[in-house]
Amino acid sequence: MAARRLRLDVGRLFAMGAELGSGRRAYCTSKAFAEVLRLPSKQLPKLVFPLQELEQHFVPGSRPDLHLKIFDPSLDDIARAESIFTASPRNRIEYLSSAVRLDHAPDLRRPEVCFIGRSNVGKSSLIKALFSLAPEVEVRVSKKPGHTKKMNFFKVGKYFTLVDMPGYGYRAPEDFVDMVETYLKERKNLMRTFLLVDSVVGIQKTDNIAIEMCEEFALPYVMVLTKIDKSSKGHLLKQVLQIQKFVDTKTQGCFPQLFPVSAVTYSGIHLLRCFIANITGNLETNGFQFS
Ligand code: GDP
Repeated sequence: MAARRLRLDVGRLFAMGAELGSGRRAYCTSKAFAEVLRLPSKQLPKLVFPLQELEQHFVPGSRPDLHLKIFDPSLDDIARAESIFTASPRNRIEYLSSAVRLDHAPDLRRPEVCFIGRSNVGKSSLIKALFSLAPEVEVRVSKKPGHTKKMNFFKVGKYFTLVDMPGYGYRAPEDFVDMVETYLKERKNLMRTFLLVDSVVGIQKTDNIAIEMCEEFALPYVMVLTKIDKSSKGHLLKQVLQIQKFVDTKTQGCFPQLFPVSAVTYSGIHLLRCFIANITGNLETNGFQFS
């Protein structure tokens, strides 16, 4: 019989405390995620559901305007997503190619997701963290001035393609904007754009380059808040609430729930993997598939 589904919502997870103990492991089929499940029960929600964990720090009775559970997978769902991101001879995860123009991009039938953000936002670090279960994958970084900025394509088994878009600065060169715009506008198999914002400084003028593109082309996109390990809890809460307000009032195509992550502590990485697996059509979570 298949492993029993673990349907712990995070509220229960917090409440269960020590009860979780070693019993949790019985539900897990993924080797990598088993290690996460072995964490002390106070650390586990912080690592896996950082946004919901933040909610614990609001004054009791106050109603934070955060959307916490639109995407609300079980730990079992998250464990299943981990296997999609785990390299093996039968699940090859690898760098495919780079392109400076869309007509040089691999013609793929698989669903695609792309990661976009200004230089230094933590994009390479995040992609490396997402691929930590495929240590052979080399995430290429071309930051030196004068180096051509390219789109880098990675194949994740038979499941989907992940595209690392070039980072942009305030004065994004025209050819760069053309490349990114054309990709975002015309890539038929693009399922979701992940737009990275540095949680330490919040949304900057330069971030609007990408936000405006996504809005103009009516793309479905998701805001990922990077480097959450760097701030105090109070500062992070303030930034998260500000960004949530921006998403709620100023955007149309942005997924309402924010995805805070740290490439250092791995907080939020497992949930993000699960979301990617879901929106690329590879994993139903709690019986639900976002299109
Ligand atoms: P990119 O230009 O967007 O690819 O950014 P990088 O991934 O190269 O990161 C820029 C800087 O931020 C580097 O010094 C990273 O070590 C640092 N960094 C990236 N992600 C994190 C994070 O989650 N936490 C912390 N503390 N530093 C990070």
